[in-house]
Amino acid sequence: MRTWKIGIVGGGPGGLFTAYALQKRANHPYELTMFEASSRLGGKILTPQFHAAPVRYEAGAAEFYDYSHFEEDPLKELIAELGLPIARMGGSAVIVDQQVIAHQDDMRDRLGTAEWRDLLRFDLAARNRMTPQEFYHSDHPEGSAHAADASTFTTLLDEFSEQRTRDFVTTLIHSDLATEPHHTNHTYGLHNYLMNDPAYMQLYGIEGGNERLPQELAARIVGTKLLEHTVERVQRGADGRLRVQATHGGEHTEHAFDFVVIALPHNHLRSVKYAGDRLSPAVEDHIDYYDYPAHYLRISLLFESRFWESRLTDSYWMLDHFGGCCLYDESSRTPGLKQGVLGWLLAGDAAEQMSQQSDAELMEAALQSLPDFLADGREQLLEGQVHRWIRSVNAMPGGVAPRSLDRRHQPEPIEHPHLMFVGDYMFDSTLNGVVDSSEYVAGWIAALTSEYNA
Ligand SMILES: Cc1cc2nc3c(=O)[nH]c(=O)nc-3n(C[C@H](O)[C@H](O)[C@H](O)COP(=O)(O)OP(=O)(O)OC[C@H]3O[C@@H](n4cnc5c(N)ncnc54)[C@H](O)[C@@H]3O)c2cc1C
Repeated sequence: MRTWKIGIVGGGPGGLFTAYALQKRANHPYELTMFEASSRLGGKILTPQFHAAPVRYEAGAAEFYDYSHFEEDPLKELIAELGLPIARMGGSAVIVDQQVIAHQDDMRDRLGTAEWRDLLRFDLAARNRMTPQEFYHSDHPEGSAHAADASTFTTLLDEFSEQRTRDFVTTLIHSDLATEPHHTNHTYGLHNYLMNDPAYMQLYGIEGGNERLPQELAARIVGTKLLEHTVERVQRGADGRLRVQATHGGEHTEHAFDFVVIALPHNHLRSVKYAGDRLSPAVEDHIDYYDYPAHYLRISLLFESRFWESRLTDSYWMLDHFGGCCLYDESSRTPGLKQGVLGWLLAGDAAEQMSQQSDAELMEAALQSLPDFLADGREQLLEGQVHRWIRSVNAMPGGVAPRSLDRRHQPEPIEHPHLMFVGDYMFDSTLNGVVDSSEYVAGWIAALTSEYNA
């Protein structure tokens, strides 16, 4: 029986999920090679420690989205299968003008009756526009017909009659959107508003750090994992196989495969040259179709203690700074920890513009954004770390109108049917989307190898 050679470009979640799904589905022998440009596997799931103390924080993906109360939730099922314990996360507080607004009574008391009524009206209209079931199925356009959505999220926000309510909602969802309302569409904005309601979505993290997920996957995947191998070129050879050229320590290497999966995020797709009269324009079209960059910047500060604990108890809160910013209590992930860790997730324009500033300036800006009732805690700072994630996520994942699943994953089907793409940018810009994408491609390759071997 023929042994198929399969190459995966990118050792982030997309590459790892694809390799693992393939291992479970393939009925025929194959040899896998994974190329990863950096010295570690895991991509944007990254759980480092501070230098001053062995205390962890999430520097990339912060939480997992739980859809298990609907039907299938392949990501949560995978995490359970790997034996990784999870912990629920949650937060409902928004800090506006130095005041904590945690529920609707706070909203009425602190923002005003007209604002409270305005929010209730908007909230009801939002739920009527999309039920929890519709929300769950909306990433699968082949299951539910979805028209192109050309209107911006600003048009939805224009429905507010009170400016303060509009500002409140903008603050509430800015970190999830990772962009400004005029750079995304109505549907994606509505999604990001509704996902704050547990009936639509819940959140969890992995105990011991989210990076345990890629680590467990890497340990189980059988194949050759080539770290510090940057793929530079992919093209079809004269024999019809796919040639992958990579560099490693200044040396060029070339490899031939029957199937190649490009598991790169949108902002890295152009790090590879896709050579060929058909392939090059097809991949350019693929890249352009999803080209709606969005930005994050994460500032993580280690403190002597959790000085906020008597006032704020959730896993995170929203701050009315930096256009709306999620502030994580990273230390809530490690019960019993002596020190405290806060993580600011700046998003959109603020993240892009402020990414030019030095780490010291960013740390100071983060400290200054703390509400006055926590100002004394600034003295307790021990260390800060900054991670810049500019253009690393998508403002309109899936594009203006979702494409069919085949078309998304196989940009050039005529001469390059075995060159497939995996990515969150074709779905919802989250890990759930990468799992869906990976499973689709792994299932397709497994089916093709079975068909050819028959
Ligand atoms: C700050 C931040 C917060 C986020 N929070 C969440 C969250 O809370 N929940 C959620 O679900 N998602 C979140 N995401 C999104 C999530 O991180 C992504 O969906 C996921 O990492 C995408 O996986 P990927 O493998 O496609 O890309 P990546 O994670 O970027 O991995 C790609 C890999 O490819 C490698 N690579 C790049 N170019 C080459 C090349 N030419 N050759 C070889 N290797 C290459 C890179 O080094 C990297 O290891 C967040 C993202 C960011 C930036």
